[in-house]
Amino acid sequence: MQKSIFEKIIAREIPAQIIHETDELLAFRDINPQTPAHFLVIPKQRFDRLAEVPADRDALLGRLLLAAAEVARKEGLAGTGYRVVINNGADGGETVPHLHLHVLGGRPLGWPPG
Ligand code: AMP
Repeated sequence: MQKSIFEKIIAREIPAQIIHETDELLAFRDINPQTPAHFLVIPKQRFDRLAEVPADRDALLGRLLLAAAEVARKEGLAGTGYRVVINNGADGGETVPHLHLHVLGGRPLGWPPG
């Protein structure tokens, strides 16, 4: 299978502004930020989308969420708030087939999304 863009970032084959890393996940700034603060949290193991994560990896999903909150706090977003989003599949707006959490903040966000 061809490497995803995010697998290339994990392998340091393409550059990214990495802001947090553990042995199983990576957080880096989105290259096309939609808000003043916009970063992604990804598992190093590739799952093309949320729907493909097996039930026995539930703890990994929990750690991805906790990392999103920890990095948001370090980025100074905890007080004003932020949004965590997973786009799953075509109608969800997913463009990179590698599970990722968007963390968006730094300004008030509208709801519902368009
Ligand atoms: P999605 O549309 O949910 O699949 O989100 C993919 C996100 O990845 C988009 O917000 C892109 O701007 C972002 N992205 C794509 N390529 C890169 C890259 N090389 N470095 C950082 N973010 C990227």
